[in-house]
Amino acid sequence: MNGRRKAVEVKDLRFSYNGREVLKGVNLEVEEGEFLAILGPNGAGKSTLLKCISGILNCRGVEVFGKPIEEYSRNELARIIAYVPQRTEPGFMTVFDTVLLGRRPYMGLRPSKEDLEAVKRALKRMGISDLALKTTNKLSGGELQKVSIARALAQEPKVLMMDEPTNNLDIKSQLEVMRLAREFSTEGGTSILVMHDVNLALRFAGRFVFMKDGRIMADGGREILKPSLFREVYGVEVDIWEVNGIPVVVPL
Ligand code: ADP
Repeated sequence: MNGRRKAVEVKDLRFSYNGREVLKGVNLEVEEGEFLAILGPNGAGKSTLLKCISGILNCRGVEVFGKPIEEYSRNELARIIAYVPQRTEPGFMTVFDTVLLGRRPYMGLRPSKEDLEAVKRALKRMGISDLALKTTNKLSGGELQKVSIARALAQEPKVLMMDEPTNNLDIKSQLEVMRLAREFSTEGGTSILVMHDVNLALRFAGRFVFMKDGRIMADGGREILKPSLFREVYGVEVDIWEVNGIPVVVPL
């Protein structure tokens, strides 16, 4: 044992939308300090799994730090898990106020000095301090995505969950977000990201879960990456090369 706590445990998780089962018995344990990337084709159930773990969907079989998720109050859970959705709607609030929403689980009637400091830190970390007074409907898709991540950071969670966080971003911002997720985990937090870009995931994450049709097909480190896995999960033929010690998946 390495003394790390189990941050998330999912036991035989099943979930259906309108009677159609899309998670078909998922088992997963994630420890503090891990950076996990969840991969797999569209419709595999990745987003649904993330929403179950973050308490957005009501599911049975999810424990967070050893306690069933349904036993947490909303505020308690929000201090532990932050979830960044695939898309956020822009609005008429400023960037600063939007990120301040991340402090709601801590706030009294008014934001404290500490709340305001946490917002400033999150804006700075995402490199968007200069956007603080803009309203979110004046932002580009990538900027809005960074606001959404800043809001999650302001929440000061123990587990950071992001659903395809790099989708709207240019390559520099993609790398920044991946570094941030990695730092978050090396600083003792847990990062769980749903990713489409296998190579970006490979470069940064330490563990990979491949899903297909509501089930986990493979779970492990870089050693699980074999052409046969990509054939089975995505139905594509790939070569796996190594560049500077990092595996790179090349579709044929
Ligand atoms: P992924 O993130 O791997 O693309 P999702 O978890 O989004 O997969 O979706 C899994 C399955 O559940 C898909 O078939 C999708 O169409 C279905 N689904 C997702 N969200 C809903 C919803 N709100 N209502 C009904 N079906 C849904």
